[in-house]
Parts: sequence; C-alpha cells; structure tokens
Amino acid sequence: MERRIVDTTYANQDDSSGNYLQLLEEAERDQKCPFCNLPGDNKLVATTHWWTMIECRWPYENAEVHLILIPNRHIEDIMDVGQNDWGEVNSLIFMAMKIYPTLKIGGGLAVRFGTNSGVTIKHLHFHLIAPVTDEQTGRVIPGKHVNFPIG
Ligand SMILES: [Zn+2]
Repeated sequence: MERRIVDTTYANQDDSSGNYLQLLEEAERDQKCPFCNLPGDNKLVATTHWWTMIECRWPYENAEVHLILIPNRHIEDIMDVGQNDWGEVNSLIFMAMKIYPTLKIGGGLAVRFGTNSGVTIKHLHFHLIAPVTDEQTGRVIPGKHVNFPIG
C-alpha cells in the first residue's frame, strides 16, 4: 500500500534523541498528518496567515538553527504554493533573523517536493537552516557543514 501521509524510507533510522520514526509510524497508522496536527511539544517560532514556523525537533547535524516553515493548509505539491504563500516567506525569514542572529550571517532555505526528493512528511514544508558559524569570521567552522540530502 502506498504510504499517503509519510514516507519513512529516508527518515533518520538511527535517531536516538527523539521518537521521530515512532511519530511517523503513528501518523501513517492513524492517517493523521503530523503537520496538520502539530504535537503541542513543538517550539512555535511564529505564525502568519498562511504559515506556521517551528523549531525542528530533530535538527540536522551541524545546524545551529533549523526551522520548519509549514503551510497552514495541507498541500503536497510545490505548484500549490501560491503567491500569498511566497509573499509571506520573506516575512518569516525576517522574523527568524531577529530571533536567531546566526541567520543574519547566512544559511539556506530548502524544500523537497515530488516522489524523487526523499521527502518524509508529505505535507510540503521548507527548511530554514544556518550552520554552526564562527561569529568572528562569519564562516562555517571547518568540517561543520550541514548536508541536506535530496533524493
Ligand atoms: Zn498536513
């Protein structure tokens, strides 16, 4: 049976810091999208009309900041991100920079979409990430790059 809510194929299987895989399995079993039904223990950063921004509970290795931007309505296709959605992304990044100064130095905004991207939670979402950064030089600390696997 095709997994409709999540795809655990690429989920970090050896995560020992949380229950990510368990959360995903429960979401599929109960057919409840984990982003339409955000667990209360997420750290909420900001909400706008079209988006909710939370801290990632399972940040990627070497991410000093790892935020998830989630559309408030369930969409799975990148083509369903409308002008209103895109318009608010700037505001969310600006809000995040005020709270997480490392983002003012730099970072990345990434989104997986489609069946070949390695997406885990099918509810479309953006990752806003800043690597561990040397504040003096504004550079990534050598060897501390963040990998964002696609596919
Ligand atoms: Zn959803």
